[in-house]
Amino acid sequence: MDKIAELTEQIVKRFKDSGFDVDPKEVSKRLNLLIHEFKVPESEAVRTVTNYLMKELEISREQLVAESPLVKVSDITSPGRWVSLKAKVVQLWDATSPNVSQVGLIGDETGIIKFVIWTKAGKGEVEEGKSYLFRNVVTDSFAGRMQVNINRSSQIVEIDEDIQLPPRELEVVGALVAIQQNSGLIRRCKLCNRTMTKEVCPVHGKTEGYDDLRIKGVIDDGENFYEVILNEDNIRELTGIGLKEARKMAEERLDRNAVLTELKNSLLGRYFRVVGTRGERYLIVREVEFLKQDIRELAGELL
Ligand SMILES: [Zn+2]
Repeated sequence: MDKIAELTEQIVKRFKDSGFDVDPKEVSKRLNLLIHEFKVPESEAVRTVTNYLMKELEISREQLVAESPLVKVSDITSPGRWVSLKAKVVQLWDATSPNVSQVGLIGDETGIIKFVIWTKAGKGEVEEGKSYLFRNVVTDSFAGRMQVNINRSSQIVEIDEDIQLPPRELEVVGALVAIQQNSGLIRRCKLCNRTMTKEVCPVHGKTEGYDDLRIKGVIDDGENFYEVILNEDNIRELTGIGLKEARKMAEERLDRNAVLTELKNSLLGRYFRVVGTRGERYLIVREVEFLKQDIRELAGELL
């Protein structure tokens, strides 16, 4: 969709949402004139045409649905609200559905949030590291997490502003208080790397998988809980159990869960220092080490 058509739709929709019908042809003609003939900036043109229509229809500004308010990421706490936000694209993920044009994380100095650009929205593509004004996006909640959806009524405008992000590198010192069931020797889908359950990928169904070793756990530093992900290297460093050893253990005991039991026995309740990158939900651990003031060692010394 070209710019004029997009702005036209935005104006027509705003009036329609307020209970007034305006002629898209008229709107489009005026926008075209202002933007292309008189070189008026787009936002100014939209304002001018909106004011003209309000005059024609003899309606006041109060009768028009407000433009969605400019908010910060941390303000987004409930679904179903129309908002605008200035944010930087932190990370693009692989879109796994043809309905999704782009998906990933955006953020400002107050936080990071998932975004989805629907294919039907027909919006231009955003790039990692660039900042944009996301205008008229809808807040949504999915699996307990907030996100913003960019649809046909939304606008994405690149801005010449370097939006700051919250610090992402984090060091946590605390006790590993939980290891989730889907840890240990796991299977991942060869196509998308997602964790499989009984050789079934949540996206690709029954397909080929490969073994991996990971721990999804919770570290308690006395103030907060951090959901952490340890990879094979982290686990091998701590326990001496790598993928090879884990496979052998599973084969010998004829039970893949034996690995998880073993990891729980040697790691649960112990104290660690971890350094990693904070994602939307998990702290992706890069470095991990046992702490000297480990409770078991202290107990051992006391005995
Ligand atoms: Zn898959």
